[in-house]
Amino acid sequence: MAADNTSETLKKYDDEVLERSFQVTKSLTNVYNTCFNFDIDAGTFSSLKGGDYLTYMSRSCGTELVIQNWLSMMPERSVDLLSAFLDFSTLDKRMRNRMSISTEYVDAIGKWMRATLIVSDMDEKTGHIKGVTLATEDIDLEKSKELEWRKAIRDRITLLSSVANVYHSLYQIDFKNDELKDLSANQTDRFYGLPLHQAWKLWILKDFTPETYEAHKAFLKFDDAPKRLKEQGVIAEDILTIPHGWMNIMVAPYKRDKNGNVVEALIMTRIIDKEKRAELRQAEALRIARESAYLDGLTGINNRTALKAFMSEYDIDKAEMYVALFDIDKFKDYNDTYGHVMGDETLKAVAESLNRIAKEEDAFCCRYGGEEFVLITRGRKREEMAGILEKISKDILNKKIEHVKGPVGLVSVSIGFAERDGMEDIVDTVRHADDALYYSKQNGRNRITFASMDVKSGQRLFDVTFAPSTRKYIAKDESAGAKNEVDELKEALKIRSHQLDVVLNAIPGGIYTCKATAPYNFQYVSKEAAEMFGYTVDEFLEYSNNSAVLACISEDRDTVIDLYKEQVASGRHLLEYRIRCKDGSYKHVIDSGKKLTDSYGEEVVYSVYLDITDEKKLEQMAHTSSAFKALSVDFDALSFFNFKENSFKDFYISDRYRNVAGVWRNAHSLTERFDIYSKSVVYEADQERFNAMVQADNVYKALENKRAYYINYRMYKSDGSVARAQIKLVKDNSDPSGETVIMCYINLDESGKRKEE
Ligand code: GH3
Ligand code: MG
Ligand code: MG
Repeated sequence: MAADNTSETLKKYDDEVLERSFQVTKSLTNVYNTCFNFDIDAGTFSSLKGGDYLTYMSRSCGTELVIQNWLSMMPERSVDLLSAFLDFSTLDKRMRNRMSISTEYVDAIGKWMRATLIVSDMDEKTGHIKGVTLATEDIDLEKSKELEWRKAIRDRITLLSSVANVYHSLYQIDFKNDELKDLSANQTDRFYGLPLHQAWKLWILKDFTPETYEAHKAFLKFDDAPKRLKEQGVIAEDILTIPHGWMNIMVAPYKRDKNGNVVEALIMTRIIDKEKRAELRQAEALRIARESAYLDGLTGINNRTALKAFMSEYDIDKAEMYVALFDIDKFKDYNDTYGHVMGDETLKAVAESLNRIAKEEDAFCCRYGGEEFVLITRGRKREEMAGILEKISKDILNKKIEHVKGPVGLVSVSIGFAERDGMEDIVDTVRHADDALYYSKQNGRNRITFASMDVKSGQRLFDVTFAPSTRKYIAKDESAGAKNEVDELKEALKIRSHQLDVVLNAIPGGIYTCKATAPYNFQYVSKEAAEMFGYTVDEFLEYSNNSAVLACISEDRDTVIDLYKEQVASGRHLLEYRIRCKDGSYKHVIDSGKKLTDSYGEEVVYSVYLDITDEKKLEQMAHTSSAFKALSVDFDALSFFNFKENSFKDFYISDRYRNVAGVWRNAHSLTERFDIYSKSVVYEADQERFNAMVQADNVYKALENKRAYYINYRMYKSDGSVARAQIKLVKDNSDPSGETVIMCYINLDESGKRKEE
């Protein structure tokens, strides 16, 4: 019964408690999960809402035990916090003038909760809190949002603080909303709130020069930045800006949408001026070092190292390859005659021709060493290669650089070339080219030889493909030299006439005279011989009065007849004389031949005419110059100008004029030469008058009715002082065509007389 009573009382009590709890909770608020009422002074508690377990466990316990029980369910991290929060002995102090205090904690199942203490009973007079309500609420959802938000903030703060030291400026781009925000502390709000495009333009216009803008147009174009960011991740470039020098600009994705499209990005700029300039300087130094390692110091063209690099690049190349070796003719003598300084200049001039034409022809060339050069073509035919080489050697000759001891009187080159045989080492090909070059040297220089391969024997054969000029140019600085040149010329002609002997034995023809005892009569004149002078055979026989020797002009006749008699007796003859052609001009010939016995047992003389008109003319000029030197005023410089060809034939200078002669070399026409001359030596005040006087037309006209034409002027001497001088122009009487003018440069003293020094 008593037990029944007790259980009934308990049930009634529970009902009452539940009813009260319901009422209080309703009257308080619906947001709390649990509500407990603590009577602090009595040390008792009651549950107003939820917290059934605690209510049950602590029904007969005091406040302290309830709190201990509650704390025992909490995770460790919340225990200290909550026990301090629920320390009722300090409540009066903590809640002074406040009706509630709260704390957040993590509960037994890891949820974020908020505990709040609300004053429920207080001594109005003393302010002593006698009772409180403890309410808890679930804040897990809002807390996780807050945490997320906090994390985002923290991340950004971390990012900003980490980049702040490195980056000069930091912008945030919002592609979706078309916004550019300045995030860097030092330039706050420069573009804040501006539409992206406007801000971007402002930035570019302010900080980038038009040049840098052009160079970095693609990078700075912002329409397709999202696309590029999606494809490449980060995009970056070093740009030269106005205010800060070199700057590294990096754009990195910051936020992407579901599809991976970048909707926000960060622009980070970093001043790298110092590093960049150092880097550029280093790159430039490296480029120069690399280039100079490949370039020849004197001529500025490729050197042998470049050849090595070229070959290592093309070593496996199977294309047809020709290698040519160039060597300047008699260059040692050139140095000895003109000095090393001029030698170097000439090397440069040769290199210039080679390099220019090699470039035009897409060929490789280099200075191989000393006065030797290499040229290589690939994928070209042999004839093409020969054509290129011919072009170069002609170009060098056309520079008309005087070289009295060279094979043609001008600077010339000998060339040998060979085809690279299969995968042959380039050094071997150069060696074959060198053999061919040697052949060119042995056969008169100033020519091109190809070293071909005899397939059967595997031996190299040599083939002179081209001799640019066999003509002898004579150019000397003094008449003594001129005489030597004439002797040399004669020597050369003798060799040629000896070769003719050989030809004569093999080929009947030319001209031959019958009977050694009656040598003047032709027995036979070939058609070719007559045509050489513009006649038919009959016409020539008539003109020459049927006589070989009498074909010469009357001025030469006496000497020729005497010499002929003398020479024919010895079995061979070699005569030089002039023949008047049908058109009235002269031809200088060598009539050479020998005495033989014909098939009838009769002694006959065979001879051939060799046209040496060109050589003869030059030879005469040489004579003229020596004659001039011997007879006339002695001159400081002397030159021959041919009006018809508008070119200088020859030029002689005394030491005093040597320095200016150098610059005249490449001038061909009279006006051109005087133009250079005027600028280099003529005293400024006289230049205009001088230039008018030396016009080719004026000179030519003056000489039509005067024996000599004088030009007086003042000149600078090599020591810088001004002296009087005179140019005397006279017609060269030794030239039957009357086209050549001799110019004589004379230094005058103050009274206008020739100055003796
Ligand atoms: P050839 O080749 O026609 O048989 O006669 P060569 O006199 O040219 O013969 P060689 O090859 O023996 O002479 C080469 C000369 O080139 C020797 C040297 O005085 C000259 N030489 C080489 N390198 C230079 C240079 O850099 N400057 C000058 N001025 N001369 C150089
Ligand atoms: Mg050499
Ligand atoms: Mg040489």
